[in-house]
Amino acid sequence: MYDLIIIGSGAGGGTLAYALAKTGKKILLLERGGFLPREKENWDAQAVFDDNRYKTKEVWYTEGGKPIHPGNHYFVGGNTKMYGAALLRLTERDFEEIEHKGGISPAWPLKYRDFQPYYLAAERLYQVRGERGRDPCAGFESAPYPFPAVPNEPRIQKIFDGFEKIGHRPFPMPLGIHWREDDRINSACIRCDTCDGFPCLVHAKSDAEVMCVRPALEHPNVTLLTHAHALRLLTDPSGKQITGVEVEREGKIELYQAGTYVVSCGAINSAALLLRSKNAAHPNGLANRSDLVGRNYMCHINTAMLAICRESNTSHYEKTFGLNDFYFGSPEWNYPMGHIQLLGNPKKAMLREGAPGWTPDLILEKMADHAVGWWICSEDLPDLNNRVTLNAKGEIVLRHQTRCDEGHRRLVEKLKEMLKKMDDTWLPSSLFLAMRIPIEGVAHQVGTCRFGTDPKTSVLDLHCKAHEIDNLYVVDGSFFPSCGALNPALTIIANALRVADHLK
Ligand SMILES: Cc1cc2nc3c(=O)[nH]c(=O)nc-3n(C[C@H](O)[C@H](O)[C@H](O)COP(=O)(O)OP(=O)(O)OC[C@H]3O[C@@H](n4cnc5c(N)ncnc54)[C@H](O)[C@@H]3O)c2cc1C
Repeated sequence: MYDLIIIGSGAGGGTLAYALAKTGKKILLLERGGFLPREKENWDAQAVFDDNRYKTKEVWYTEGGKPIHPGNHYFVGGNTKMYGAALLRLTERDFEEIEHKGGISPAWPLKYRDFQPYYLAAERLYQVRGERGRDPCAGFESAPYPFPAVPNEPRIQKIFDGFEKIGHRPFPMPLGIHWREDDRINSACIRCDTCDGFPCLVHAKSDAEVMCVRPALEHPNVTLLTHAHALRLLTDPSGKQITGVEVEREGKIELYQAGTYVVSCGAINSAALLLRSKNAAHPNGLANRSDLVGRNYMCHINTAMLAICRESNTSHYEKTFGLNDFYFGSPEWNYPMGHIQLLGNPKKAMLREGAPGWTPDLILEKMADHAVGWWICSEDLPDLNNRVTLNAKGEIVLRHQTRCDEGHRRLVEKLKEMLKKMDDTWLPSSLFLAMRIPIEGVAHQVGTCRFGTDPKTSVLDLHCKAHEIDNLYVVDGSFFPSCGALNPALTIIANALRVADHLK
């Protein structure tokens, strides 16, 4: 019998395990994946992008029954093993109601000021590098980032300067990579060109395994079981207490028990686990009297864009700046548009997907050498019909349609315009290769068990405890009532630290 069982060891679960490790409580961390192996393929774009070496082989379905091969990763550390480690706070206004062209982004029941100390603690725990006062949308913070920002490489600096010259305010990206500009000999990060979207072979990225799970395991009261797939949570007849979790491990079904249970499987799998756990007391799925478990799934509206330039791009690590000048709109569009950041280093293997099958390798290689990659991210509004359900076999069915496309499309065009305006480096506009991220791209999944004060309109209370169950918490991206347009991991980490304080 444990004091606490945490299911899932990613940004939410891994952080929570770390934050509670020192309490001496007996903690069991259940993780369906294993440790991600350190191997040459970690840095091989062909293995990672073409062969999908680290992506789950699980198949989900659209509402129409079409198979989806989700970009989800099941390892100790969860999706942070592959993430770009852009660790941004939501803005103060993201916590308030905001009118979009496509509808309303609802206010959060807690505000930026409630999250602010936890954001700071999260930045310290994940060793974020950045510079305060440069992002025009960033919320108030008097303490500096724990480490100075990662500087731009020359090609990227030229683009950064170009933005400034035409009147914009690019800002250094807050990053969880362990680069030491001042001490290259001891820098853990070697500033390679395979970071965003790749596992870090030298463990120099602030992922949840490196920063939280491994340190938590140094405490004898914390146990990790890998390849432990939680299938179902069981309740007592009243339905008010979880009494155990059924786990499939090495082909056998095992039962684990604790006083308190925390589900942290990522927003899609957490909803699926609650829905799969339906019983007589919870016929609609656990904690689902509101019928909101699985609904309001959000994933941002994302476009990956390659700008192919005349000048070659010799940068190694280039995710070093972002732009929020149009976050809340532009002179021509008085609605939120979103956030722009650099992507990781474009690779031939990444271009292949969008290119005609006959495109020779040499052409793709040349294009990649001359490309600068961009990630354009707009808010995705919560919608009851965007949801996770289960089919008759208990497999995941995902429905997602967006309502804010126009602001996003305008932001993509805005970026192209700015790049063209900057200098003569950019080739004609046809050489902006933009790809909207399809339903398979679940990287920024949030919202499926929103938190709030009213059990009729939320699944979780303000401590992320299920309204209907006394000993069940959900501590991953599921709790977001709205998602802003900034990468979600830092908010998930900060929230896990906040819930940890409550659980302590
Ligand atoms: C390629 C990529 C790049 C990204 N880049 C960024 C970025 O730069 N910045 C940013 O903020 N975010 C980024 N993200 C998103 C970020 O990784 C996620 O927001 C974050 O990891 C979500 O945390 P989580 O705790 O909700 O879920 P996860 O981190 O996904 O953790 C869930 C864990 O639960 C486990 N699990 C699932 N189901 C079960 C089960 N039934 N039983 C046991 N274990 C289970 C999974 O294996 C996993 O370990 C990126 C994601 C990807 C894929």
